[in-house]
Amino acid sequence: MQNDLFLKNVRPMGGPTADVFIRDGRIDRIGPDLAPAPSEVETIDGQNQLLIPGLVDGHMHLDKTFLGLPWVPHEAGPAILEKIETDKRVQRTMNLSVEDQVGKLIRLAISKGSTHIRSHVDIDPEIGLSRLEAVAAARETFTGAISIQLVAFPQSGVMRCPGTAALLEEALRAGADVIGGIDPAGIDQDAVGQLEAIFGIAERHGVGLDIHLHDPGELGAHQIGLIAERTRRHGLAGKVAISHAYCLGTMDDVQIGRAANLLAENGISIMTTGAAHSPVPPVQRLHDAGVQVFSGSDGVRDAWTPFGNADQLERAMLVAQRFNFRTDEGLRLAFHVATHGCAQALGLSDYGLDVGCAGDMVLLDGENVAEAVVTRPPRRLVVKGGRVVARDGTALV
Ligand SMILES: [Zn+2]
Repeated sequence: MQNDLFLKNVRPMGGPTADVFIRDGRIDRIGPDLAPAPSEVETIDGQNQLLIPGLVDGHMHLDKTFLGLPWVPHEAGPAILEKIETDKRVQRTMNLSVEDQVGKLIRLAISKGSTHIRSHVDIDPEIGLSRLEAVAAARETFTGAISIQLVAFPQSGVMRCPGTAALLEEALRAGADVIGGIDPAGIDQDAVGQLEAIFGIAERHGVGLDIHLHDPGELGAHQIGLIAERTRRHGLAGKVAISHAYCLGTMDDVQIGRAANLLAENGISIMTTGAAHSPVPPVQRLHDAGVQVFSGSDGVRDAWTPFGNADQLERAMLVAQRFNFRTDEGLRLAFHVATHGCAQALGLSDYGLDVGCAGDMVLLDGENVAEAVVTRPPRRLVVKGGRVVARDGTALV
């Protein structure tokens, strides 16, 4: 009974001591002083530690990481196009096994308590679907240990790389779950062209969209309007995310109010890493206006950034620091962004620590969620669907 587990003496979300019985991978019972599980079910004493739902990495690039290799000095210049070209050149030169590299990063994410990942995977006419196929193969290897959504990501653009739109559509048959996009104006110089192409594919296949939008200021704001209009027209409310959306970080009070309403009305989520190097969407303001805000690692040790460790408690801390969240309320909001915010943006309907939810959870040292965000203690136990997948900071898969 690999998917049955009895966790006794834990404190869900830092509240009073309780027990949790996971049966067939789902939370069957949770509460104080539960009757012991049948003797054949593994029982673990949580020793009154803090229990939180599995962490969710809402935005990764699994296919790009250099994790586990000798140090690779960072080369890329500041502009997005330079970074794209550097990434492609370095990947070509290094000629790594994508599947092996992906496996290293997935194992690291599991050890840090992630039970779900959304990963963008590069697709362009030069590499075709080769990287998507490698990531899909790695996902297969880790079935049951972590859930992974794949975004078919046109890193080099759609309209400026003829053939990409057809590849994106093909990617859905090869294992992608979501259609990506990138700076329709800044990269493609054809905002309407790219958006018509990707929204058309999403509607035909009944999938969601997650669009990288780095374009700043008015240019970015204009594209948020175009995305909202198409989300409404294609009936995709709740299935569209905009990643980064730096333009939301430089708006004045009136502009951000309007943009937040537009996003909330159309069910468009906003992903932020809480980046220190650029303007970022105002998390509290958006959250208060009813916009789903979620977080993720973005690159982990790749040609785009030498940083990253796949730890979503650390991500919550970086978001909190970026916005100067110091009160428990603020720290809880940062935690929400890295957990339930991600779950909603990714459409995970059975997420949380309630009866009937998936048995995905993390046990760790800490009095409450606020302290966990600040101290980021080692993950004592990571459980996925009732199965222990990491212990004391080490993945068991
Ligand atoms: Zn990204």
